[in-house]
Amino acid sequence: MSTVFNFCPACATSLARGLQGGRERALCPACGWVHWDNPTPVVAAVIEYEGKVLLARNVAWPEKMFALVAGFLERDESPQEAVAREVLEETGLTVSATHLIGVYEFRRRNEVIIAFHTPAEGTIALGEELAEVKLLEPARVRPWPLGTGLAVADWMRARGLPVEFAPLPGRG
Ligand SMILES: [Zn+2]
Repeated sequence: MSTVFNFCPACATSLARGLQGGRERALCPACGWVHWDNPTPVVAAVIEYEGKVLLARNVAWPEKMFALVAGFLERDESPQEAVAREVLEETGLTVSATHLIGVYEFRRRNEVIIAFHTPAEGTIALGEELAEVKLLEPARVRPWPLGTGLAVADWMRARGLPVEFAPLPGRG
């Protein structure tokens, strides 16, 4: 989700539109501050637990809508550290390895997704952001053809599994 600024966060002057770095952007006519609006990196985890893939439903989501555990990096944190922290916070599981699956665009939210395969162990204990989790045989996962779903599909293909995409939520 792209952040909208009306006023300069440095000097509180009303922002204007102008060309900067080859694109039209919001910028400050007083102090020169530029809203670059770069995509935000997000880490996402294909959690493998007892041979199954763990998918999670956020408390804010409708029933039957499950996805990968994901979250923002904290300052001074590597993507590998961030994904292990998110998995522990949200599921209670300890990540034993982080294998990069790939990096994916997610323009709708102005994010870049760094996706890992994370084998994990321990006992599932849901964090406050999750309503429920489900465990699926890898071959039964039906990813969305977008965002983290593309990472799931690449991970499945790398294991020799056929990929059948699910319709996007809200589109049938
Ligand atoms: Zn300013």
